[in-house]
Parts: sequence; C-alpha cells; structure tokens
Amino acid sequence: MRIDIISAVPDLLESPLNHSIIKRAKDKGLVEIHIINLHDYGKGSYKQIDDYGFGGDAGMVIKPEPLYRAITDLTSQRKYDQVIYTSPDGGMLDQGMCNSLSTCGNLIILCGHYKGIDHRIREHLITMEISIGNYVLSGGELAACVICDSIIRLIPGALTDETSALSDSFQDGLLAPPIYTRPADFMGWKVPEVLLSGNPRLIRRWQEEQAVERTRKLRPELLDNPCIENNN
Ligand code: SAH
Repeated sequence: MRIDIISAVPDLLESPLNHSIIKRAKDKGLVEIHIINLHDYGKGSYKQIDDYGFGGDAGMVIKPEPLYRAITDLTSQRKYDQVIYTSPDGGMLDQGMCNSLSTCGNLIILCGHYKGIDHRIREHLITMEISIGNYVLSGGELAACVICDSIIRLIPGALTDETSALSDSFQDGLLAPPIYTRPADFMGWKVPEVLLSGNPRLIRRWQEEQAVERTRKLRPELLDNPCIENNN
C-alpha cells in the first residue's frame, strides 16, 4: 500500500507515522508513506497557499491552485483508489471503513487547515471525505494519522500476531472482553478463575459472554446496529 499525505504542516505528521506498528509496517515494506508539503505548490516567493474567504467570514481558506497542482501531480503518476479529504462533515470513520481502506493499493489523504479548503476541490477532485468525530480539530493532520494507524495495523503482517486485530473491539460488532496479565493475584485483586483453567472452550465462552455483556452495558446501540459493513 502507498499513502500520500498532503499537508500544510507536515511536521505534525512526523512522530505518529514513524514509530511502533506503522514504523514496523514501513520497515517490512508493507506500506510506503509519502508526505507532501502543500507549500511546495504555493504561489510566489512566499509560497502562498491561503487567502481570505469570499463572503466576509473570519478565517483563511486554502486556495484551489496549490491543492489542484499537488493532487494532479500525484494522480498523473499513478491511479489512486481514493482521494480522501479529512473533514468534520465527512463520513464517520468506523471499523468497517478501516477494513475496506486497508485493502486499497494507493490512497491520497488531504489535510485541511485554517477554515478549510476551497469547496471546488472537494466537488471535483475529492472522492471520499472522512471525519474522525463530531468535534473540530485545527487541521487534518491528526485525523490523517488516525486513519493511517487504524488501516495500516490491519494489513496482513503489520501486527506480530495477525489474529490479534480480529479479536479487537468492533471487528465482530462487539466490544472486546476484559484482558489480564500476570500476576494472577495483584494485591488481592484476582484474575477471573476461568482464565486460569487452561480450558480453551470455557475461556472462549467466557470471553464471548463478557463481550456481549460489556457491549450491552456500554454501547447497546452496537447490538442493534453493528458498524461493520465490510468485515473481511
Ligand atoms: N470550518 C470547518 C472546520 C475547519 S477545521 C468546519 O466548520 O467544518 C480545519 C481542518 O481540520 C479541516 O479542513 C479538516 O481537514 C480538519 N478537521 C477538523 N475537524 C476534523 C474532524 N473532526 N475530522 C477530520 N478532519 C477534521
């Protein structure tokens, strides 16, 4: 998989995309991440990328020309499955969307900034808009990192134990059961007896019951409305 991220503040992307599982996936050749500085496509000696919005509202808007040049520079070189814009009014990111994106070959993620981007780019060049929640961030970089992390960990080989992602919350429409590690008794707080039984069938049944119970208690809407649309 190849992901090209277009950003006006590329430094914000550095640390999250260069550690832990994403770094390992890059080192193993499972994913390439290219960060494109939007200012390289800006106008004049100041590399201007923003301007006042029409309509007199407060806040600057990213101009269409640098966005057009940055996106078409990429799309002229290869075919992309999606040209994603991170936006609070986009489709809400969920596990089903992550599963589906993790099977893509090439993705562009465009991070907005200031008041956002000129709407004509959204109408003509963007193929998918993703929100990471009903709140407003200062820029799309953190959203791009969330999208990258949530899809890259699903690429076969990215996690040390590939089956681990399958037992995470949401994959089967349920929250994950509680997890424990050693010691079995910590200051008198005991691990549930069944987990020490060594009986895989009993343990599995207990985990399934706990997953349903926690989902009923914490996120009952998932039981009526599982968010998995593209379970692989
Ligand atoms: N004026 C916009 C908010 C702009 S915030 C509005 O009212 O909808 C600046 C940039 O941050 C956006 O262009 C977008 O790329 C990013 N952003 C903000 N909140 C986001 C969210 N919840 N999900 C994804 N991206 C977000």
